[in-house]
Amino acid sequence: MTGINHMVTGAVIAGFVHQPVLVLPLAFASHLVLDSMPHFGFQNWDKARRKQKRLIHGVITADVALIVLLLILFIVQGAPTLFYIAGFVAFSPDLAWVYQFIVNRQLEMSEDKPHNAFNDFHERIQSQERPSGIYIEIAYLLVVSVILINLWP
Ligand SMILES: [Zn+2]
Repeated sequence: MTGINHMVTGAVIAGFVHQPVLVLPLAFASHLVLDSMPHFGFQNWDKARRKQKRLIHGVITADVALIVLLLILFIVQGAPTLFYIAGFVAFSPDLAWVYQFIVNRQLEMSEDKPHNAFNDFHERIQSQERPSGIYIEIAYLLVVSVILINLWP
């Protein structure tokens, strides 16, 4: 799933639960639950990277812009520190992809590089990735944003 959806979900969990000892594992678990649901992506990222470069670039740019906007809103609206931490923890499994992209300039783990068990698992649960999943992501973002606004302390 897109980073913005993971981060808003983490903040919603923080808004509901309040207890850091519960919020952080729940935020982490939310990542795996969301990644198991249908969402934006491709069955073959290597091929998509060659053929649908503009779409991928557009989605990543929009995702980063929305994350920056979310962080600005958090700062302006004085969000509790736990919102930031839970948002970051909810996003954190994808840091492996960010690292992969920066280091290897690839959007999926290359076959010849050593994998760790968690990243293998993380990649495997995303079998529901498809380009049309972007509509699910947009609908999900709207719902979860309304929930976050209603939970604002
Ligand atoms: Zn993920």
